[in-house]
Amino acid sequence: MNIEREQLEMDVVFVGAGPANLAAALHLKNIVDEHNELVERGRKSGEKIPDLEIGIIEKGSFVGAHILSGAVMDPIAIRELMPDFLEQGCPVDTVVSSDAFWYLTENRRIESPVTPPPLKNHGKYILSLSKMCEWLGEKCEEAGINIFPEFPGAEMLYDEENRVIGVRTGDKGINKEGERKGNFEPGVDLLAKVTVLGEGSRGSLAKHLMQRLGLNEGKEPQVFSIGVKELWEVPAGNIEEGQVVHTLGFPSDTKTYGGGWIYGMKNNVVSIGYVTGLDYLDPLIDPHAEFQKFKTHPEVAKVLAGGKMLKYGAKTINAGGWNTMPKLYADGVLIVGDSGSFLNGQRIKGIHTAMKSGMLAAETILGAFTHNDFTSKTLQHFEEKVSASWIYDELYPVRNFHGAFQAGRWSALVNTGLQFVTGGYAWGFMPKEHHEAGHERMEKLSEYDYKGDDIKQRYPDLKFDKELTFDKITDVYHAGVAHDEDQPAHLHVLDTEICAERCAEEYGNPCQRFCPASVYEMEFNAKTERRELKINFSNCVHCKTCDIMDPYQLINWVTPEGGGGPNYKGM
Ligand SMILES: Cc1cc2nc3c(=O)[nH]c(=O)nc-3n(C[C@H](O)[C@H](O)[C@H](O)COP(=O)(O)OP(=O)(O)OC[C@H]3O[C@@H](n4cnc5c(N)ncnc54)[C@H](O)[C@@H]3O)c2cc1C
Repeated sequence: MNIEREQLEMDVVFVGAGPANLAAALHLKNIVDEHNELVERGRKSGEKIPDLEIGIIEKGSFVGAHILSGAVMDPIAIRELMPDFLEQGCPVDTVVSSDAFWYLTENRRIESPVTPPPLKNHGKYILSLSKMCEWLGEKCEEAGINIFPEFPGAEMLYDEENRVIGVRTGDKGINKEGERKGNFEPGVDLLAKVTVLGEGSRGSLAKHLMQRLGLNEGKEPQVFSIGVKELWEVPAGNIEEGQVVHTLGFPSDTKTYGGGWIYGMKNNVVSIGYVTGLDYLDPLIDPHAEFQKFKTHPEVAKVLAGGKMLKYGAKTINAGGWNTMPKLYADGVLIVGDSGSFLNGQRIKGIHTAMKSGMLAAETILGAFTHNDFTSKTLQHFEEKVSASWIYDELYPVRNFHGAFQAGRWSALVNTGLQFVTGGYAWGFMPKEHHEAGHERMEKLSEYDYKGDDIKQRYPDLKFDKELTFDKITDVYHAGVAHDEDQPAHLHVLDTEICAERCAEEYGNPCQRFCPASVYEMEFNAKTERRELKINFSNCVHCKTCDIMDPYQLINWVTPEGGGGPNYKGM
């Protein structure tokens, strides 16, 4: 389709309104003002920087709509960004008042007498990251930053020398046959001196940029987990406000990386969720079912007893850390936050590192404007700044944390313990030398005693009673997902023949299970007399699990029409 597009020239475009980019944009505005004031007062040499046109595009219908987290926030970065963040109204829910670490067997909990230091959160903040991003978005707008919700970054724009020159936003008003509807609006080409990708875990533009420019060369493959979460309102007394519990053990088997969280928030609201490593072996594992099973543990069920589920969500987490970090810059572009692998997998915390990475990107961009050079020559300073910051001090010693779990729980516990005292140097004791990509680890059905792909074989006792446990469709309803159904599916499956034949036989179509939103269904086709793939794309919660975990890497997640997706307000 030949489409005439508007071009809009900006100085800096940020893709994604998550904590990384919101902190980056705000910090950039602040330090440019500071720079100009110092130059004006003769305290700094150089030229003043003219007022920058800064834009943030966000695919969700508002800032925070697609933000899902636990969340316990380490305030180290927000204190640097805005020392008076509490006085300025940052919507923290409550302060962590107690920590616990439970090892769960089938029926019992063994409470660790000491909470492992990485999971100590006393004094940190429990909050809804969605709410916090909404608030940070308001702060950005007050500072004169343009925010464009419902504008997905659909394509990177390059010049003839492969330098990034901006981003193309998605078209609106295309029907499912790919034709223009009455409300058609072409996407806009946002041209920028620097484009910053802060799309979160498995960013769709970041993935293509990394492939095109080889930004992962020489790095270990990224590894991911998926966090499945519900918010509950429970009777007073079930949990203390400010209580934080992390768990290990039930229901994960010892070969599967997994753990749960339970956070007591204000007004008897509980954030509860379960993380499953997307490098599991058994093809019948279903991360949503793992979470539902987690809630049936007597000690966990006690916390939820008499309560009501309010909201649901699921999102991936990039867990590989330092060793899987891509090259973070190229001509005209920087990568921040989860897209750049800044999450600390040992603490399952990435808000503070995402924000700090954004702030360091902002400082790099200020340098680029003072030198009027937006090539790698100047932007490479981003990596130097990261290495000289507390991000390095935090991430480098835990660089082998997730990798250790790829050898199973028991050796991982020994190994991560050794890493803790050696500053990450226990790698030599591990059976495997490097992280392996999760989708390459999935084993075939034939290696198990399963008959077909019925999930009941793996979860025989799991019933979705709609009181404590919920099926995917009920949960998805509580994620507030909405997509216009008359648009092309944003999940591109490159070869559906493989789904119907080879994948069915080898893995039992694991997309039906790893997707936490029932997007993928194998449906019997009477004409061909076989089961074929049906994609319910309107259920998609934008978690990106399918793009990551498909064993043949045939699924490509691209951005749907702007504004579509979950509504995680308050999550
Ligand atoms: C279940 C779960 C629990 C967690 N718990 C904690 C915790 O307790 N503490 C903690 O510190 N961290 C936690 N984390 C990690 C933390 O949420 C992330 O590290 C952090 O949010 C990363 O910030 P980000 O800005 O890089 O990306 P994100 O927060 O993912 O934000 C990215 C934004 O970009 C938008 N976007 C993506 N692609 C595009 C595009 N192409 N065009 C336009 N917009 C786009 C998305 O819609 C989203 O709004 C948790 C994560 C999960 C999933």
